[in-house]
Amino acid sequence: MDLNAKLAILADAAKYDASCASSGGTARDSLAGRGIGSNDGMGICHSYAPDGRCISLLKVLLTNFCQYDCLYCVNRVSSNVPRARFAIDEVVQLTLDFYRRNCIEGLFLSSGIIRSPDYTMEQVVEVARVLREEHDFRGYIHLKSIPEASPELLHKAGRYADRLSINIELPTEQGLARLAPEKDGAAIRRSMARLRLHIDDARGEARDAARAAPASLPGVRPTRARARSFAAAGQSTQMIVGADASDDASILATSAQLYGAYRLKRVYYSAFSPIPDASSSLPLQAPPLVREHRLYQADWLMRFYGYEAGEIAPPGSGGMLSLQVDPKLAWALAHPECFPVDLNLAPRELLLRVPGLGVKAVDRLLLARRGRRLRADDLKRLRVPTHKVLPFVVAADHRPAGVVDARHPLALGAKAAPQQAALF
Ligand code: SF4
Repeated sequence: MDLNAKLAILADAAKYDASCASSGGTARDSLAGRGIGSNDGMGICHSYAPDGRCISLLKVLLTNFCQYDCLYCVNRVSSNVPRARFAIDEVVQLTLDFYRRNCIEGLFLSSGIIRSPDYTMEQVVEVARVLREEHDFRGYIHLKSIPEASPELLHKAGRYADRLSINIELPTEQGLARLAPEKDGAAIRRSMARLRLHIDDARGEARDAARAAPASLPGVRPTRARARSFAAAGQSTQMIVGADASDDASILATSAQLYGAYRLKRVYYSAFSPIPDASSSLPLQAPPLVREHRLYQADWLMRFYGYEAGEIAPPGSGGMLSLQVDPKLAWALAHPECFPVDLNLAPRELLLRVPGLGVKAVDRLLLARRGRRLRADDLKRLRVPTHKVLPFVVAADHRPAGVVDARHPLALGAKAAPQQAALF
């Protein structure tokens, strides 16, 4: 099989991994001689670097052969799909070629499990080693790690990769046992804990090295002991949404536990996408893509706005996030007793609960109110959606007309539940 054919199979097989997906757009290309560029190229996806830049990655599998039989996965052993496998040098060359042509800034590499978890992980790590040590590759590398691989191999992976990820796959142990019986939830968490320790150790060493650096003389760069690097961009995971009966409350509770216990950089939510020849244990339809979107919004609220998982999807809500309104507005509508919030007096954590006010806007309001009383016009200057904010706040010249609850136009004006768009 030639390299192009392998690339077509192994890039396509990698698209189900959402950790750096850019799905949902309309496919465009310039094959007919019109226009320039394509958003449909094999294996190029977008991700965010630790400094916030959007970067393009070559996203491929080393192989889509897999000896496991996870029911939701197109690469499972019982799946009837064309198979391919890259040699280590082929992935290295592809990465370098794409990089030199300025098509990518890094590599996202995952793999089906062949022979054994250790053998597969060795191959994945070897790609990163060759790139880093033999070609001095300085681009971004994200390696998908196999939780059952030996701790030594995971440690080695972290030396070469910017980011490591281990997929938690499903929100509950029962879901994992039913749909991915060969996967071991305890091993997944053990490996995440190990990665956390290595990341913390490396950061500690970097801090110590910085402190031990000699004071610099004018015009002389201080020589620093080089700290060992380990997955400097942290670790992430992915959870499949809608493949089992788990509700949003249990998905968010699992995410909160993962963030708390292993300080993950990100949990990615991937709406289950029906696959060819699927098992009868799987739903026939994908969940609405907006459910995935609401989970990302809720995740953001937990990480940056101080919400607890149980507040966003409380026990009485049936465990599901509203598809019509975003989770922050849904919380505000369910808690009219907390509003209106006084822009001139409220603490930061309360301002962060106002629908339409983001973290940056709140910090700018806090800064501005040191010098004067805030008025409704100050919100306009911040370019926040005032129609959303004003019903929930009091300012020097503004007081909302009445209580905002589920009967308010903001709630009633929400659109009907959106329909599922094509995933790929
Ligand atoms: S181990 Fe990974 S690649 Fe293999 S079947 Fe399960 S999810 Fe798919």
